[in-house]
Amino acid sequence: MKVDILAFGAHPDDVECAAGGVLISSILDGGKVVVVDLTRGEMGTFGDTETRQQEALLAAEHMGLFARRNLDLGDGRIENSFSNRLKVIQIIREYKPKIILANAISDRHPDHKNAAELVSQASFLSGLKKLSDVANEEYLQEPWRPSAVYHYIQDYFLKPDVVIDISSVFEKKMETIKLFRSQFLTADDHQANGILALMGQIEATNKIFGRAINVNYAEGFTSERYIGAKNFSSII
Ligand SMILES: [Zn+2]
Repeated sequence: MKVDILAFGAHPDDVECAAGGVLISSILDGGKVVVVDLTRGEMGTFGDTETRQQEALLAAEHMGLFARRNLDLGDGRIENSFSNRLKVIQIIREYKPKIILANAISDRHPDHKNAAELVSQASFLSGLKKLSDVANEEYLQEPWRPSAVYHYIQDYFLKPDVVIDISSVFEKKMETIKLFRSQFLTADDHQANGILALMGQIEATNKIFGRAINVNYAEGFTSERYIGAKNFSSII
């Protein structure tokens, strides 16, 4: 199995908020996309784990994901440990993605930074042939390394290394985010302060990133390595 994008998020809805447009665009172009939530979001102020799982599956269906998985690494305590890296590597080797998306390298929630480092390091280690020699457990999958890892930009405003036009799918992205009702649409005070503020922030961020390349909406990403192109004309 080979997928086009494997997108990891510390919490259910991270991926949708920060990179939902890119995922929807890829799917509409015929791409295969898988989302992996690293935790069940059990520390969130609103919604229980069962509700959040149902919402995540609704969002997966709405976007047309090939699959959605959950590694249950513990909300509020994601560790970039070797055992967690092995869990991420098993998923990478299962889906053999071309591109991996991960949380922001610096962000408001400490899980985001830890998840970013965990996924980034696992993406490299996944390509090592001799990993099974030190994994100390049955570990028979073939090595696989993605061609690139990009970190989406979420709560903190980071300067992107690349921005991707999502104008044609922006409405569908926002519809998808609204499916996480427990996070954005339930309690009255939360509705007033939560959805309006958060949806407005996402829209504003996507507009600012879009402005730089003269489109209506874009999502921004950072990369730990140089981003290459075949020629200048493929860059808009
Ligand atoms: Zn999060």
